[in-house]
Amino acid sequence: MQTAANLMPIPGHIDPVPVPRSFVPRSDGRIDLLGLSLADLRMALETSQLEEKQAKLRAKQLWHWIYNRGATEFSAMTDISKTMHPWLEQRFVISRPNVVEAQVSTDGTRKWLLRSDDAQDYEMVFIPDADRGTLCVSSQVGCTLNCTFCHTGTMRLVRNLTPAEIVGQVMLARDSLGEWPSQPEGRMLTNIVMMGMGEPLYNFENVRDALKLVMDGAGLALSRRRITLSTSGVVPMMARAGAEIGVNLAVSLHAVTKEVRDEIVPLNRKYGIEELLQACADYPGTNNARRITFEYVMLKDKNDSDDDARELVRLLRKYELPAKVNLIPFNPWPGAVYECSTPERIKSFSSIVFGAGISAPVRTPRGRDIDAACGQLKTASEKKSRAQLDREAAVESDAFA
Ligand code: SAH
Ligand code: SF4
Repeated sequence: MQTAANLMPIPGHIDPVPVPRSFVPRSDGRIDLLGLSLADLRMALETSQLEEKQAKLRAKQLWHWIYNRGATEFSAMTDISKTMHPWLEQRFVISRPNVVEAQVSTDGTRKWLLRSDDAQDYEMVFIPDADRGTLCVSSQVGCTLNCTFCHTGTMRLVRNLTPAEIVGQVMLARDSLGEWPSQPEGRMLTNIVMMGMGEPLYNFENVRDALKLVMDGAGLALSRRRITLSTSGVVPMMARAGAEIGVNLAVSLHAVTKEVRDEIVPLNRKYGIEELLQACADYPGTNNARRITFEYVMLKDKNDSDDDARELVRLLRKYELPAKVNLIPFNPWPGAVYECSTPERIKSFSSIVFGAGISAPVRTPRGRDIDAACGQLKTASEKKSRAQLDREAAVESDAFA
């Protein structure tokens, strides 16, 4: 039997050993380079029998073309010799998410319905403002967490999005805004929020790897201070998010008592309010200039009383949190059992929090007319009734009979 003592020592200094990853080829046999880190890109080239030194050089060039220039064709890569283009084309692609539908709201908000190669639908939303442009990115198809006020939580199918599918949303937005090559000034797309479909901390590694690409200064170059990750409170992953991603944190608090939060954010039964707020207090890098955002959806007669507002202030003070509170008017969707609080109630709630010295703006809903507002994301294919899907399936099978 081998024991640690009789294992052969490894000569030389010990480098982190890159673990070869298996690159899953697409149905056409080619490997998608989108979503790969520089190290993975190099490994993909080496796996295709490119000699080590060549692979290192080419990986660097490809990485620059992909993430800084937004190239999707190898033929555009002028510093890679023309004779190599067909070699690359035979083995690799640089994909984008497939766009099924793009909609524009009367307020300028845009929503894209995207489809993966295995026919999973997800959405992204771009919200232009006077001084910024925010892309709301999805991390999963659907969401397993079933918050009772959220349309996404009612989707039956759930799958984690890959790093390519996550960073692909940012690439696609850049394509459509004409913002290549990447430049530090004068961009329309200035901010990213992980607030689309899904719970990002339930897809931690893929979200982390995608955001690393988004933040890399030589590529997409969005500063971590312009990126916000929103979680419904996956407490055990919050410290890792702080250490390994380091972006701004938003927490979907939504209620201040166990009873109400257990009902509307069922994850609360696993990780309670106090535990969650302690994890917020431990989140690295927060201070008065870099606060944690607490999201609070305003639900009529559920979580919107003056007492609730006072309890919110007490809790934020107790944990000494550098906090701002985002009050989100509830966005309705067909079948939802809640109503939005009245404007007077929201005002009263806001002024109690504000009166305690905590910023508590009321978020203006954006893109409601195209179902692009918070919590309204649910893909068109999921909105179809069971009966309609069955009818379509019957027509399809007739066609193949
Ligand atoms: N899963 C993550 C991120 C996505 S949701 C999270 O829950 O934090 C983005 C924000 O929209 C969350 O604060 C969520 O609670 C809120 N939201 C969900 N449904 C909503 C609705 N119908 N109206 C208003 N806000 C909603
Ligand atoms: Fe999932 Fe967030 Fe919706 Fe809750 S609010 S169901 S965690 S997407």
